[in-house]
Amino acid sequence: MEGTERRGWSRIERSASLASRRGAEDVRTDISETLESLKALQRLDAEIADAERRVEDIEPRLAELEAPAHALEVEAEAARTRIREMRMDERRLERVADEKRQRLRQLEERLNLVRNVREEAAVRAEIDLVRRAAETDEQEALELLDQIRRTEVRLQELEGKLESARGEIGPQRQAFLEVQRTAQEQLAILRDRRANHAVRIGAAAREAYERVRSGRTRMAVAVLTEDGACGHCFSVVPLQRQWEIRRGAALIHCEACGVILAPPDSP
Ligand SMILES: [Zn+2]
Repeated sequence: MEGTERRGWSRIERSASLASRRGAEDVRTDISETLESLKALQRLDAEIADAERRVEDIEPRLAELEAPAHALEVEAEAARTRIREMRMDERRLERVADEKRQRLRQLEERLNLVRNVREEAAVRAEIDLVRRAAETDEQEALELLDQIRRTEVRLQELEGKLESARGEIGPQRQAFLEVQRTAQEQLAILRDRRANHAVRIGAAAREAYERVRSGRTRMAVAVLTEDGACGHCFSVVPLQRQWEIRRGAALIHCEACGVILAPPDSP
């Protein structure tokens, strides 16, 4: 009777200790799987950072390539603006010259109506004045027309240079745009892959990872070195912690730099 009871108890004890061993095994597997997932996430993040750099690198190179053509474009646009302004000035001058010519006709008609020499002298003096002013306007208008013509010639030159500059950089520009497009596509694929990978990691581990990464360091998971130091900041990890990391008991952070520590990769 007694013997049977003892046997019964030991069976229970045995199965309980088996269950707890299995429990520890499960935790270990969970943690080591989580760490592998986090390491994969980190590799994806590094690839994403590379792809982002490739996309960003193209912009200044493209700008540098386009700089000479862009300078010509700016100069051509300035010439176009100048021509528009000079045409407006020229039209304004023509208008006032017309007004003065009309005034001259009126004054010449008045010459026929003068009653004495004094009045005639006064009208003739005004005619002289208006004529000189009209001549100045006309001279100015002619100079403007000349400037407009010269600026138009310069604009044509600029447009010619611009066309050949665009032609010269065309193939290289296309190549740059193609590289940029490919890099953007790769980046989108990587981000998609990251999102798909991240949802499969437990929320707590994922948050721990993001918290470390959002800090000073881009590295979130580091492997413990063979001699028990953090693989990121190389601070020595306390023995008790090292043992916990190697056992895979929990997610352990480096006390010095905060990265999540993984056991050394098994050979
Ligand atoms: Zn560290």
